[in-house]
Amino acid sequence: MTTKTGNYLNHFRNIGIAAHIDAGKTTTTERILYYTGRTHNIGEVHDGAATMDWMEQERERGITITAAATTAKWTRAGQEYVVNIIDTPGHVDFTIEVERSMRVLDGAVAVFDSSQGVEPQSETVWRQADRYGVPRIAFSNKMDKTGASFELVLNDIRERLGAIPAPVQYPMGQESDFKGIIDIVRQRAYTYTNDLGTDIEEHDVPAEYADKVTEMRAALIEAAAEVDEDLMMKYLEGEEPTVEELVAALRKGTIEKKIFPVLCGSALKNKGVQLLLDAVVDYLPSPLEVPAIKGTLEDSEETREFPADPNGKLAGLAFKIMADPYVGRLTFVRIYSGTLQSGSYVYNASKDKRERVGRLLKMHANSREEVTELKAGELGAVIGLKDAGTGNTLIGDGDEHVLLESIDVPEPVIKLAIEPKTKADQEKMGIGLQRLAEEDPTFKVETDQESGQTTIAGMGELHLEILVDRLKREYKVEANVGAPQVAFRETITKAVDVEGKFVRQSGGRGQFGHVKIKAEPLEPGSGFIFENAVVGGTVPREYVGPAQ
Ligand code: GDP
Repeated sequence: MTTKTGNYLNHFRNIGIAAHIDAGKTTTTERILYYTGRTHNIGEVHDGAATMDWMEQERERGITITAAATTAKWTRAGQEYVVNIIDTPGHVDFTIEVERSMRVLDGAVAVFDSSQGVEPQSETVWRQADRYGVPRIAFSNKMDKTGASFELVLNDIRERLGAIPAPVQYPMGQESDFKGIIDIVRQRAYTYTNDLGTDIEEHDVPAEYADKVTEMRAALIEAAAEVDEDLMMKYLEGEEPTVEELVAALRKGTIEKKIFPVLCGSALKNKGVQLLLDAVVDYLPSPLEVPAIKGTLEDSEETREFPADPNGKLAGLAFKIMADPYVGRLTFVRIYSGTLQSGSYVYNASKDKRERVGRLLKMHANSREEVTELKAGELGAVIGLKDAGTGNTLIGDGDEHVLLESIDVPEPVIKLAIEPKTKADQEKMGIGLQRLAEEDPTFKVETDQESGQTTIAGMGELHLEILVDRLKREYKVEANVGAPQVAFRETITKAVDVEGKFVRQSGGRGQFGHVKIKAEPLEPGSGFIFENAVVGGTVPREYVGPAQ
């Protein structure tokens, strides 16, 4: 492993774990962190930044919305590998975050619930990975669950996702009878003999599975031969490939996104997670095996490529901003090229600003490691960047305005009014909302001109709910949220003077149904009395109430 040549990158895997909500992403991630030696007790709820889901509310909701990166180590065949796990949000409301995380990872593990097969949202995530050209392996989780079926997942991958599954494993037993896993490539079987999944017996394939394994292996060799000419030659000559040759061909097919290795297991019952980590190393690409990221020069169509080279020009992407209770603002970055040094200055091309890099951290499941540099292919958190927002490009100097990500963000689809429960919280709320909006470009905060209300807008109800929850937890602001007031601005066209007051005569009942009118109608259907209204003027603000 040397910094000079970038060879260290052969031992890097930057992966995301993508799944439908409830498929078992959190459990799988937790187990991975446990087996990579960074988490102490399975199932324990950790505090602070101890686990991927470091926010309490995520745990309560059972969803993951952060996109931080956690560094773990895994030893395979006597070699140590660095596995950076990039948290991909699992909810459709966070599409832009999912897309951004897809950009900073090199490969993904798609987790499926074997009793459900490919669910609609797994399909969405799969398509996003397609769009970003992310090689994938699939993990058919929950093999212990009633209704679990490995075949169902394989079929769904073929039928619903239109992808070619390459089952490299086969379960021994299903549902409550799930005992272990057969490695089809190596023709070895693994039976789990304790609950923690740490006692694994490796043995020959049991006789009852022999035919199935032979048949599956032949299909696997055929699929691998399709993507590898050398293997095809052997195949045509009836020669059996070695395990290494088969793995190499499958790896090639996976990186080219032509085939998708499928594994099985039960994260909850601790079965199959170590084999999954082995497969991450075996089949998913290192940063050197994915196409170099392209940047676009601002105001032109010209592009620049940034190959993963620690000695190249610095190019990094900020992909997540987090408020950290201990050190303040953390900017998670992926470095594509060059080396980011602590204490140095970088140029934020998206904001056209020079920024000072403070300290650099690598996040582990249970600890943070302060480092002096982050090299090409690495991910970590920067303390001290004041202006960088998610999606911003960091480069070494300001010679060229290269942007790694376009700064277009989708328009919000929902808007709500927000007000603090007590007046005293007004200022804190303003600060909190501003920070949250900096972190998340799809979250917009505005003041309504008509009603004077603060409104928040985002990608869905859950999106806003979570941000309001964060406002409460991180900024200690309790707030009420509701439909924004309807600013009723109809011009008063006709009025008659009744006891010194103005009466508006024409219709508008339907619209008035949405607003609070202080004055009473003169008589049903005849109109409303507005105090202080003038002909040609608009309905004043005090007649505007919350929509019902
Ligand atoms: P996420 O929403 O994808 O992060 O899913 P979680 O990891 O939170 O899991 C959702 C639910 O499925 C939880 O109740 C887990 O305990 C359960 N679960 C996760 N993995 C397994 C598994 O392998 N087998 C079974 N039976 N349940 C599981």
